[in-house]
Amino acid sequence: MRKTVDILGVKIDNITASDAVERAVGFINCRPEGRAAMMFTPNPEIIMAARGDDDFKNILNHADLCTADGIGVIYGAKMLKTPLPERVTGFDTVCAVFDKIKDTDAGVFLFGAKPGVAERAAEEIKSRYAGIKIAGVHNGYFKDEETPAIVEEINASGAALVLVCLGMKKQESWIYQNRENLTAGLCMGLGGVLDVFAGDVKRAPDFFVNHNLEWFYRLVKQPSRLVRCLALPKFLVTVAVHKK
Ligand code: UDP
Repeated sequence: MRKTVDILGVKIDNITASDAVERAVGFINCRPEGRAAMMFTPNPEIIMAARGDDDFKNILNHADLCTADGIGVIYGAKMLKTPLPERVTGFDTVCAVFDKIKDTDAGVFLFGAKPGVAERAAEEIKSRYAGIKIAGVHNGYFKDEETPAIVEEINASGAALVLVCLGMKKQESWIYQNRENLTAGLCMGLGGVLDVFAGDVKRAPDFFVNHNLEWFYRLVKQPSRLVRCLALPKFLVTVAVHKK
């Protein structure tokens, strides 16, 4: 039975990082009846986007696992007096999942990012997690009418886990729309994770992660994200207005 907290209308699992990994592996091993399970990892930007978009909010609230990616969500939960145990990021979760499934038959399909990125990410994942089976890759730039063929390609690969990395909104709706046609156990919506594995985007060094300053590191590295980063203060102000 899921225990969730409501953050500005989005249900976030009240779960530790290690329990989230167990739950994800459980879906990979045992697909829910009739569809792939869906894992999303909202950060403040995603929650703010969902506030202005009921369809997107509805999709997030249909997740089987929806975890707090970003310290802002943890602060927000605390301000709302519904604290969450810790951050459960998409990147850390998928790394721990790879570690658990690397010696099993569960194949992984990498879907998303610019042409060539998923191939390079696959090489890096295989070198970091010896034994992992990369079932296939497909870049994330496609026309809507190509989706049935992509679903077929993913199913034909026999993948049990699909990483869908198309950026927020696009990846969650793609997973939601195709979950009944996909034969995998779990689809994870993971934003720029393939760029990180491919080495095109650097993850913040430990100092920034440990001091909850990852957002600051990303902003300095990619100033073009300034507008997106403003979602964090906007989110905290909105939470402050909503708290009882
Ligand atoms: N992307 C994609 N197809 C698209 C738009 C974006 O595959 O039509 C990819 C993009 O190349 C990048 C990822 O989606 O690899 C988005 O990364 P970002 O860090 O912006 O993720 P977000 O924060 O939006 O979840």
